[in-house]
Amino acid sequence: MRAKIFSMCVLLAGCYTTAGSACEYRDHNITIDFGHTPVVDSACSGVIAAIKFFEDAGYDDRFTVNITVADEVFTYMKNENSGADIPIQIFGRYNGETNQIDMSAFGTEYMNTRTAWNTVADDPNSGMEITEEIWTSVITHETSHALATAVYNRLNPVMVSNGYYISNGASEFIAYMIQLSTTREKLRNEIIESFDNPEGFTSIWSLNPIVHYTHPHRFGVQSYNTNNSMEWFHNALHGKIQTDLPNI
Ligand SMILES: [Zn+2]
Repeated sequence: MRAKIFSMCVLLAGCYTTAGSACEYRDHNITIDFGHTPVVDSACSGVIAAIKFFEDAGYDDRFTVNITVADEVFTYMKNENSGADIPIQIFGRYNGETNQIDMSAFGTEYMNTRTAWNTVADDPNSGMEITEEIWTSVITHETSHALATAVYNRLNPVMVSNGYYISNGASEFIAYMIQLSTTREKLRNEIIESFDNPEGFTSIWSLNPIVHYTHPHRFGVQSYNTNNSMEWFHNALHGKIQTDLPNI
């Protein structure tokens, strides 16, 4: 992967314009539009870390992962009074309908003025600096959403056709659990300690969008700290954790 990018850089005297797939792992179909990010190897290794986790857990799907690294990524919330869409800048996002991951580039002003693993839910500066290592782990998080959705859709075609997609809370549980599992041990321990090592979840009903939305990063650490997290991981993929209403 590195050789390919290097040769393109030499030919074109600037790698930033060579958007497209230069990330390969076995027979998986990985496409990354790198945008202006200078850390292409990190993006690729973040994707592969998630795929390896699924492989090690016994899922031998041939995955398709599409990532666009953009200078800015927005989500939109409706203003209750005017009905207008309010843009909110975010770190990364996975769209299950299009199987598309949008990821904020590393090193932008936005990324340098907020933190990751925020210990205070509504304070975007209460966590730790977004290093390349943490940025890479968010790629793993978003990729895990894509892989979990693909496996769930393969295993539960009847439920999907009836509008029972993988539950948002279950998908977040999986994404955070894999993100922290694949984070270097010393950094992972620092993250967990910054939240005072919270109790893991004891009921699958905690895996719902409201609990996640209330304190997303604490939800993430609790997901990792859940005792039987691998059992829940398999159960979620097999459609046994349904905490959302059907989308019909
Ligand atoms: Zn997520």
